[in-house]
Amino acid sequence: MAYQIGASRQQLSGPPPVPNNIYTLQLTGFRPKLSKAGDSLNYNAEFTIINDPAFENRKVFAPFNTKFFTAIRDFVHATGNECELVKVVNPETGVEEEQFTLPGIFENADKQPDNPETWGKYLGPLNNATFKAELVTTEYQGKKKNEVRCYFCALAGCAEKDPDMQHSKNLVKG
Ligand SMILES: [Zn+2]
Repeated sequence: MAYQIGASRQQLSGPPPVPNNIYTLQLTGFRPKLSKAGDSLNYNAEFTIINDPAFENRKVFAPFNTKFFTAIRDFVHATGNECELVKVVNPETGVEEEQFTLPGIFENADKQPDNPETWGKYLGPLNNATFKAELVTTEYQGKKKNEVRCYFCALAGCAEKDPDMQHSKNLVKG
């Protein structure tokens, strides 16, 4: 038979994770979604490995939950960008305060702020941004995948500018 009638285990599960190493990646998109508890946002970023003949176009995902903003900030800096400082009301305290946010906007986010799944395209400086990150393989319920262990900051003078805001060297939990 010359045509495909089914799918192998690997076609169903996707390719195995790439070896632990430092890679150049490119942001290919976000799929924002409220967290299960509804009290935070998952940006659900999708990255693609580039400049690597052996693993070109392999996908890596990062949840980017806003309650773990360290990962988001580290990623933004790795693209050479800075987070935006905006005044927002803290839902826990009801008090307005300055908070770091992802730079840029999503189409329709202003119309349906509580419905991130209806948001459209991301518009901002992170579009197609490239960056360096260390990937490791993690396993959850028998399924192996790649996760970003750390991002490499590309903002000149970042460490000296704000010593209290050091980047994480290990974002992988557990
Ligand atoms: Zn930095």
